[in-house]
Amino acid sequence: MGAAVLESFAADESRSIGRRYEETKAAYRGEYQRDRDRIIHSTAFRRLVYKTQVFVNHEGDLYRTRLTHSIEVAQIGRTVALALNLNEALIEAICLAHDFGHTPFGHAGQDALNECMRDFGGFEHNLQSLRVVDVLEERYAEFSGLNLMFETREGILKHCSKKNAAELGDVGKRFLNREQPGLEAQIANIVDAIAYNNHDVDDGFRAGLIGLEQLREQPLFGKQHDEVHERYPDLDDRRLIYEIIRRMINTVVTDLIDQTRANVKEFAPQSIDDVRRAGKPLASMSDEIYAQHVGLKRFLNKHLYRHEQKLAMTEKVQAILKDLFQIYMTDIDKMPLQFSSAVDKHDQTSGARVVADYIAGMTDRFAIAEHERIIG
Ligand code: MG
Repeated sequence: MGAAVLESFAADESRSIGRRYEETKAAYRGEYQRDRDRIIHSTAFRRLVYKTQVFVNHEGDLYRTRLTHSIEVAQIGRTVALALNLNEALIEAICLAHDFGHTPFGHAGQDALNECMRDFGGFEHNLQSLRVVDVLEERYAEFSGLNLMFETREGILKHCSKKNAAELGDVGKRFLNREQPGLEAQIANIVDAIAYNNHDVDDGFRAGLIGLEQLREQPLFGKQHDEVHERYPDLDDRRLIYEIIRRMINTVVTDLIDQTRANVKEFAPQSIDDVRRAGKPLASMSDEIYAQHVGLKRFLNKHLYRHEQKLAMTEKVQAILKDLFQIYMTDIDKMPLQFSSAVDKHDQTSGARVVADYIAGMTDRFAIAEHERIIG
């Protein structure tokens, strides 16, 4: 299959406002390809391998980590991009970086750090993802951060409060003007949810926290289950689950592509700015499949993410992060020089932000080891 011509409303580097620091063009790569490559070579990307998605790293070797989750998101995103003649490299870049700002220990960690930061502006993983690529990565001689293209940064910043948006310049404007991001960003956002819904069914089932009978009550799962079971009545549970999951992903992704295509046809955007000003997202599932997708999401929220076994782990890991935060706030020299030297000792808020940056960047196992080393 040759490279298709991109839609006029796909992201186009020649019409982008580009990078914050001007750079000479690469000889053999487009600008979004270059962003994707920068993301893959970053420190933050390598850290994802030891960060929790749902299950803490040491709970088992087969569970998703943030790294494998991000690769699955990118994989689905690329399929959708190609089907809709959108910018594949841009979607891939956004998907691979979308979780850079996550703390160790997943959402439990983010909640703990947000609580610690309550008096200092809070902590939000989306905003932190942007902060990682804009400021915290230190790889280039001429600037801090990865100096990514506007559309990549726009996609990474999925949500943002108006207060924070006002301080972000160009990339924050759409939250103030109630505009949408480009289609690549919209799709990256949706396929993130498709990926975790499906792989969490797999991980939750493997962990024994959710069962087949419960899952069958979910229409998205139930329909595929009945079809697979009828055709292959002797399948063992593991293979049954995998076969159901691949069919669920296919159902939802196909629906997303078809519905988005229909939306685009109806609205007829000519440029990415038309997409941004469409008044609502043009990437979407049909109402029926979206309701099923959300149903499964709610089910996982209730039965997996808040399973008592997970809640016990939540308390444990939150205590670790809160201890670390207190320790560094009391004695900033307990952090590496790279961080402690950035603290303005007369400004507690800026100090807290540096501590949050340091803690958010930790992997699960580093946070545990550091806690053990300092507290014993
Ligand atoms: Mg994600």
